[in-house]
Amino acid sequence: MHPQLQLLVALQDMMGMIREIEEQGSELEDMGFKTEGLEKLKEAQAELEAKIDPQLMGQFRRLTKKFGRAVVPVIGNSCTGCFAQIPTSFVSKTNAGRLQRCESCGRILYWP
Ligand SMILES: [Zn+2]
Repeated sequence: MHPQLQLLVALQDMMGMIREIEEQGSELEDMGFKTEGLEKLKEAQAELEAKIDPQLMGQFRRLTKKFGRAVVPVIGNSCTGCFAQIPTSFVSKTNAGRLQRCESCGRILYWP
């Protein structure tokens, strides 16, 4: 997988975890986990973000705001964000080091 793409997928997972913790109620707060755990995750998030190309990071943020998930897997030649067909030629282009976005919804694609 494209190294930047790998970072984006990891970042997206991390953001999901952070969101989950933030949405969880007082139960975690009582255990003192919430604040401490969140801080660590946010530090790790910042580290990841620093490794990602700023332009790509901008795209990622815009897409995340719009869709919730900016990076989606292609399964059975379909974008799992909008279910549009993805040309098979996209796979080889991505393997060659280029990031591909869904032509229909614009999400960044990866092949799991
Ligand atoms: Zn799509």
